[in-house]
Amino acid sequence: MNYNVDEIRKQFPVLALHDKDSKPFAFLDSTATTQKPEFVIDAMDNFYRKHYSSIKRGVYTMSAQTTDAYESARKKVAKFINAQSENEIVFTRGTTASINLCAWSYGRKFLHPGDEIVISALEHHANIVSWQLIAEERRAKLKVIPVADDGDLILEKIPELVIPGKTKIVAFAHISNTIGTENPVKEMIRTIRKIDPEIKILIDAAQSAPHIKIDVQDLDCDFLAFSGHKMYGPTGIGVLYGKYDILKEMPPVEGGGEMIDQVTFEKTTFALPPDRFEAGTPPIAEVIGLGAAVDWINQVGIDAIYQHEQEILKYAEEKLKAIPGLHILGSPKRRGSLLSFTLDCAHPHDVATLLDEDGIAVRSGHHCAQPVMTRFGIPATIRASFGAYTEKWEIDRLVEGLLRVNRIFG
Ligand code: PMP
Repeated sequence: MNYNVDEIRKQFPVLALHDKDSKPFAFLDSTATTQKPEFVIDAMDNFYRKHYSSIKRGVYTMSAQTTDAYESARKKVAKFINAQSENEIVFTRGTTASINLCAWSYGRKFLHPGDEIVISALEHHANIVSWQLIAEERRAKLKVIPVADDGDLILEKIPELVIPGKTKIVAFAHISNTIGTENPVKEMIRTIRKIDPEIKILIDAAQSAPHIKIDVQDLDCDFLAFSGHKMYGPTGIGVLYGKYDILKEMPPVEGGGEMIDQVTFEKTTFALPPDRFEAGTPPIAEVIGLGAAVDWINQVGIDAIYQHEQEILKYAEEKLKAIPGLHILGSPKRRGSLLSFTLDCAHPHDVATLLDEDGIAVRSGHHCAQPVMTRFGIPATIRASFGAYTEKWEIDRLVEGLLRVNRIFG
């Protein structure tokens, strides 16, 4: 396939900006958030300039058109992850909000004292703290699938940790945002289903939705969460996918307009999903932007994006390994589009600050995954991450920058 990264890059206005030395800057922080193509920016701009109105409430033409655009984005998202129906797509603020919604709605109704929730040692805080909060309220117990030194989860522990009748929810990331491990989700789901088919399984797809074709029916997960801003779409919008039969049994978490069926002062009945979970005026422009992001990814092709990023990953891995004193965290069997590493001579924050002077944007810190840092006995890492637009010269700049850090501190 002819993947023209130069052409793709031209579609991203921010990537055309130059640093103080008039060099294009190297954006290596797509795991935190991706840049936006003009296609997405234009879709939102067009909505605000030419079609702006609220949804559902209005019978006038413009409001009806906006409702259509909003619901058509839901259909696009459903197709993107191969959901059975668009009614399985709940719009939220992002992955964090999606996991919280699932925890509070499902957990409040179905978790009982003594029940257990299992997560993995590679989770982002969003997939830890949400479960801790509901576990505390429902007096349930949280258990953790451990991670080996190479960064792969110790899957053999699953049958010990997941107990039929006791474990109610298992939640884990498809790809770790911290060390990049791509978990064998399908195999893990199959193992859990064999132990107890009643267990509900949530996949945190924040780091896989922008890179890997997701098919929720093939995976057979019950819930799946992801964010618009990590997949070339806007901030403030995300998705909670849930199997419809399960969503239907779940109570709302927020009350307000649009989520109701009938309201009296004595009693309120609720709308069916997904409306039940979308109280109030939603982020309409953001939903339209997310729909455009899905269109954009489909135009480029998610498999082509994945192949391109894997090529960049291999290139970066080889180059970084040759740098004295540099240690890449983990060597999982499959890695997503990022490398997390430390440099012996300097703290990750100092490294990132010096790289910034060279116009290179990387992330340093614990990446909202403090338990991963504790597990590997380090306070922080430097993380370089890639997207559909990443080019090899950016990796070369990173390597030059890191060699400079070694010269300064070494
Ligand atoms: N899970 C993972 C794996 C992530 O990488 C992130 C974002 N870094 C989140 C959850 C939270 O996403 P958001 O901040 O968009 O809610």
